[in-house]
Amino acid sequence: MAKDIDWSNLGFGYIQTDKRFVANYKNGAWDEGTLTEDPNIVMNECACVLQYAQTCFEGLKAYTTEDGHIVTFRPDLNAERMADTCRRLEMPVYPEDKWVEAIVKVIEANADYVPPFGSGASLYIRPYMFGINPVIGVKPAAEYMFRVFCTPVGPYFKGGAKPIVIRVSDFDRAAPNGTGHIKAGLNYAMSLHAIVDAHNQGFSENMYLDAATRTKVEETGGANFIFITKDGKLVTPKSNSILPSITRRSLMVVAEKYLGMEVEHREVYFDEVKDFAECGLCGTAAVISPVGKIVDHGKEICFPSGMDDMGPVMKKLYDTLTGIQMGRIEAPEGWIKVIK
Ligand SMILES: *Cc1c(COP(=O)(O)O)cnc(C)c1O
Repeated sequence: MAKDIDWSNLGFGYIQTDKRFVANYKNGAWDEGTLTEDPNIVMNECACVLQYAQTCFEGLKAYTTEDGHIVTFRPDLNAERMADTCRRLEMPVYPEDKWVEAIVKVIEANADYVPPFGSGASLYIRPYMFGINPVIGVKPAAEYMFRVFCTPVGPYFKGGAKPIVIRVSDFDRAAPNGTGHIKAGLNYAMSLHAIVDAHNQGFSENMYLDAATRTKVEETGGANFIFITKDGKLVTPKSNSILPSITRRSLMVVAEKYLGMEVEHREVYFDEVKDFAECGLCGTAAVISPVGKIVDHGKEICFPSGMDDMGPVMKKLYDTLTGIQMGRIEAPEGWIKVIK
């Protein structure tokens, strides 16, 4: 039975659902894992995650398609990315096939919380892992917990996607050989001051430049950049300190295979940004957020797409990818995982 939730007025906050998945790693092996109703975790005061932030996460969505199925989008890529993250953080990989199974179990067990088609809302799924045994000398934990919970979230943009204003940040997000390319909790902890400061100054997001030369575009705290050139190419920054967004990788395929656009994945110098026709941020949460203006220490870059609407090419990309996700447009092989 569908839950008594006002889907159209949901925000992006935590709402406790019925079941979550939990698996424990001990003595060098993962246990079977199980669904539980208990949303709380009890751990030692000296747990590795509390002292040394050994934790990582993923984020993906389930939603109801036009024909009434519950589906999720490319979960295999989230599984692969979390495995990469775990290796970099000296955490045990949770096997990728079992990882996807855990996602499926959580969605099935909370199917009543998947918002209906047309509501714009979705079920956000949060897999995460952390070191849980006491660690005081700096080293990786010996015991880990892998959990997956979900929470219904509202449409990212109520009443349509309005272009946002962002600033070039004086803070750096990721070091050249650091952890920018993985979804580690620590990347977010260090971004909190920068985003609070940006908001206090009236900006929606930070554009981070490469830490070594501060001449190249990296990303924001939680979304990759895509740009459209005046002759209609999609350009997106390449760097080994950018998190490989699944939305961005999917949009590159949509641009090339569905819209016949040229796609360039390359280093993007900040100096070129003023010449682009459109700018957007991409990630699971919003798919694409249009950027209308970038402020660089008082100097403004205003994109020709303006401050009222998403630019025409971004709109086409957005409509095509969300059309694929919602089952209106045929998806490339393996992109849509039908849950039920
Ligand atoms: C999660 C994340 C993204 C978006 O990735 P998606 O797979 O598209 O959701 C982009 N940048 C950072 C830093 C992220 O953590």
